[in-house]
Amino acid sequence: MTETANKLIVVVLDGLRYDAARKYMGYMEHLVEQGQLSCYKVQSELPSLSRPLYEVLLTGTPVSRNGITANHIVRLSRERSVFHLAVAANLRTAAAAYHWVSELYSSAPFDPVSDRHQHNVLKPIQHGSFYFEDHYPDSHVFADAEYLRVAYDPHFLYIHTMNIDDAGHRFGGESKEYELAVRSVDGLLATLLPQWMELGYRVLVTADHGMNANGCHGGVTAAERHVPLYTFGEEVLSPEKEVQALPQLRLAPLMCHCLGVRPSAAMTTEGLPPFVPAQPQQEEGGDAEIIKLNSLE
Ligand SMILES: [Zn+2]
Repeated sequence: MTETANKLIVVVLDGLRYDAARKYMGYMEHLVEQGQLSCYKVQSELPSLSRPLYEVLLTGTPVSRNGITANHIVRLSRERSVFHLAVAANLRTAAAAYHWVSELYSSAPFDPVSDRHQHNVLKPIQHGSFYFEDHYPDSHVFADAEYLRVAYDPHFLYIHTMNIDDAGHRFGGESKEYELAVRSVDGLLATLLPQWMELGYRVLVTADHGMNANGCHGGVTAAERHVPLYTFGEEVLSPEKEVQALPQLRLAPLMCHCLGVRPSAAMTTEGLPPFVPAQPQQEEGGDAEIIKLNSLE
């Protein structure tokens, strides 16, 4: 059996606002109702834009420090990301994500021909499958991620979808198209989460930012800033956080906590229990099975 203690899957659903998750993600909310998942409201950092918030999520540093101030800042991160910290702790990493994630932690600028699939154990993202069209189907992103999970057995698997954000920009954050995109991802999670949970992975499902009715984000309104955080396998956040929105800067140290990796000096450890190093991993070969992604039509 594959040892999954201290193995973490983080799912970032680009552009998923908090209220849409709570209203339309019936499977996720079922698990909350059953007490298997916890859901928290997170307030995004500012500006509520994708690339700056990818850096926030993965490094736990504010934009004023990390310098990824806008979507057009195309360069490698200068911070210690969760990917960096995991590899330094001899953990395996993988990502199925939008190409901007490759530009932050693998190589910049992104070359669609050579950078689509990347394998290099010396890089922060050791195994990467990166897409570069906003309408690349979310079902395919999860399939890419499942391939990486089974083939490379990463301790840290980062999965990042774009169809919710894409529908939001084209039709608005209160449109039926946006709603459908949210419901579709819920169906994909309903396919994969049961097996991940059974295999013992810790799972975090969250978003970078929300989306307003006009199809915009970047500003300070609740529709743009409030995103969900569903957690499985970790009781690290106290119930008081359900009342108050959780600061997004807590996400990176939370990921470190789940992995048993010490957070970087730049990350806050507020709200987390004392650091406990990961137990040595017992390797008995990967026997995980690929989960079939059923059609959601
Ligand atoms: Zn967007």
